[in-house]
Amino acid sequence: MEKRIVYVDNAATTALSDKALEAMLPYFGKHYANPSAIHNYGSDAKAALERSRRLIASAIGAKNNEIFFTSGGTESDNWALRGIVEAYSHKGKHIITTTVEHNAVVKTTEALEKQGYEVTYLPVDKYGRITPEQLSDAIRDDTILVSIMMANNEIGTILPIKELCDVAHKRNVLFHTDAVQAVGHIKINVRELGIDLLSISAHKFQGPKGVGALFVRIGRIISPLMYGGGQERGSRSGTENVPGIVGMAAALEDAVLDMDDNNKKIISMRDRIIQGILKISGSYLTGDPENRLPGHAAFAFEGLDKKPIVTTLSKAGIHASSASACSAGSVKPSRILLATGASESLAYGTLRITLNEYNSEEDIDYLLETIPSVISTLRME
Ligand code: PLP
Repeated sequence: MEKRIVYVDNAATTALSDKALEAMLPYFGKHYANPSAIHNYGSDAKAALERSRRLIASAIGAKNNEIFFTSGGTESDNWALRGIVEAYSHKGKHIITTTVEHNAVVKTTEALEKQGYEVTYLPVDKYGRITPEQLSDAIRDDTILVSIMMANNEIGTILPIKELCDVAHKRNVLFHTDAVQAVGHIKINVRELGIDLLSISAHKFQGPKGVGALFVRIGRIISPLMYGGGQERGSRSGTENVPGIVGMAAALEDAVLDMDDNNKKIISMRDRIIQGILKISGSYLTGDPENRLPGHAAFAFEGLDKKPIVTTLSKAGIHASSASACSAGSVKPSRILLATGASESLAYGTLRITLNEYNSEEDIDYLLETIPSVISTLRME
């Protein structure tokens, strides 16, 4: 088979969609004004900002004034945790999260621990799941916040957010979810789920990098992370990234509109990959076999190291990843796989293949022909 260039690292980031790029261009050029300016130019930029807020709110079932623009998923997670614990610290100093969160949450809770907060890290099962009963048992009278991701970036497992949120609310505890990998890929309605805070990042759904949003349910008090000019109704200072926000809204509008059709195609490609790769001896699917993100196929190979797997595939034109983007270059075993109880030897040999609608059946043919021979060559070395 002829060499192809195949990008299957969409959990790390996605290509900007043509629609998002087109929507953004005028805001780099003609409509460059500051949205806070009161002249007509400023009003045009402000109108684009508010139109984007409406689109994003409606994509997740939120109200317009529950959407706050940020610089991406990392800021949204940091702000959700820090902003809530600061505002509610008079009620208690206990936070609950899991052992499989993204570093944007983990490093924040670790910093909060140094400031005197107590954090419970709920352990996960072999698929990276936790149960409502586990959460219920961990809640204390001084618990102020639960933060549990909607879908795991490394192994693709989707967590039972509605059930978990119900448990937290029964005990009057606020619930944040890092939905960075889920928004634009699975249906989300914040009202049906009941969540109080939700993190969004545009570059995971064909939007631009460095822009995101935090949903904060009306009535929840959140202290600012950024102080300054009082933008975003005083909650998040800093001149808004108007082109980025417009691009994020255009990308999310499309992602939600085409979700059912795209997911049919993506799930069928994902399942072909899973079936094909599992024929390789010593290979394992990681994450939940049933409840997983539509485009997410993650594996572990006994006795291999992730780095040579990824670099050899890259030489063959396949751009995949070992784990999360931030730790892809690391030679440590996957912290997430270890948390699921996998052996060290498996946790070293991870490969993450994440698809989107830009991939084709021909890409999958190429992957299924190339990956088995790469793995067997590496095993002989
Ligand atoms: N949370 C999760 C689950 C992620 O996968 C990522 C990015 O990989 C982030 C947060 C951070 O998002 P951003 O890259 O927009 O800062």
